[in-house]
Amino acid sequence: MKTIYLDNNATTRVADEVFDAIRPFFTERYGNPSSMHFFGGSVAREIVNSRENMAKLLGASPQEIVFTSGGTESDSTAILSALSTMPDRREIVTTRVEHPAVLNLCKYLARVKGYTVRWLSVDKLGMLDMDEVKNVITDNTAIVSVMWANNETGVMYPVEEIAKIAAARGALTHTDAVQAVGKIPINLNKTDISFLSLSGHKLHAPKGIGALYIKRGTRFSPFMIGGHQEFSRRGGTENVPGIVGLGQAARLAMKNFEEENTRVKKMRDRLQQGLLERISQARVNGHPGNRLPNTLNIGFEFVEGEAILMKMDEKGICASSGSACTSGSLEPSHVLRAMGVPFTAVHGSIRFSLSRYNTEDEIEFVIEETPRIITTLRAMSPFNLETMKAACVVQ
Ligand SMILES: *Cc1c(COP(=O)(O)O)cnc(C)c1O
Repeated sequence: MKTIYLDNNATTRVADEVFDAIRPFFTERYGNPSSMHFFGGSVAREIVNSRENMAKLLGASPQEIVFTSGGTESDSTAILSALSTMPDRREIVTTRVEHPAVLNLCKYLARVKGYTVRWLSVDKLGMLDMDEVKNVITDNTAIVSVMWANNETGVMYPVEEIAKIAAARGALTHTDAVQAVGKIPINLNKTDISFLSLSGHKLHAPKGIGALYIKRGTRFSPFMIGGHQEFSRRGGTENVPGIVGLGQAARLAMKNFEEENTRVKKMRDRLQQGLLERISQARVNGHPGNRLPNTLNIGFEFVEGEAILMKMDEKGICASSGSACTSGSLEPSHVLRAMGVPFTAVHGSIRFSLSRYNTEDEIEFVIEETPRIITTLRAMSPFNLETMKAACVVQ
């Protein structure tokens, strides 16, 4: 059976070009970039190239890029650095819809370290209230951390505008742009954004590599202290294959950026339209226009998301319910709950996330199969829609 992979916000396949570029760095060019001999030193040159490609994709300069082990490390590094370089400020501003890499770090900082966290709420389309943003950022704010795009719904946030507001208060801004990089244009050089996190494996590079952008002139305190690597901003021998792969992935993302993302968006829109036309009591979660081109989060009322995924799995379709990090528990998604999505739709919400490797035929197959799955599950349900509705009112 063919696999139809529509879970690209969880992870992506490594591009063939990336894989080919990486291979020699395991077996032939395994030198340490810090070595004095040419065998190692020539590898350092490759890191320089990767850093240049990475910077170019972000509209940044190479000195502003630090390679890390991924999105989570970049998030922790940025937020902890801001707190330690601004010890007089004891407040963090963030949103209720962040990835666990930011969300759980902030909860920890509040519970264990005594910081005050100001949680920004979102409306039913997943959008922030900019008046609330303005009011909550004060002279006590060390860092504002707002994701560029949400991994579950694809909703995008006005981080450039938020960074301007924060800068006027002397606060730093961090953005988790793991889902945004490569999907929407980013040009950091004219913004007030101090830190940006990205991850290789969401961008067709391997797992275990990422980067942190640190705006020139931003005071910085490293997370990993050790050797002089990464201009003494991140100690430890470099993950050379990862770094080379991330540089290649950045180069590929820049190639045909517009065409590829337009093609992906067209497939996403077709999937959305096809499913809404064929399935009753289905709704899109998140702002319909202000969304990443590749993401569709759709709630099928009165069905269990896990059951839908199991049925899809039988057809070779990979999607996800809630966020990958909360699946395995029956906890409904914190993002959809923050948006006030009705209980009856939260549990039946499915995220489809596409990439440039998907085809129109695959999308047509999913449009064909999904209505059958939903109908079967609704028929099997011990509740009819009315009793279920009544039960939900009580909860
Ligand atoms: C995947 C993801 C992360 C975590 O990145 P890792 O490289 O897996 O640590 C952080 N934030 C968002 C929005 C993500 O989608």
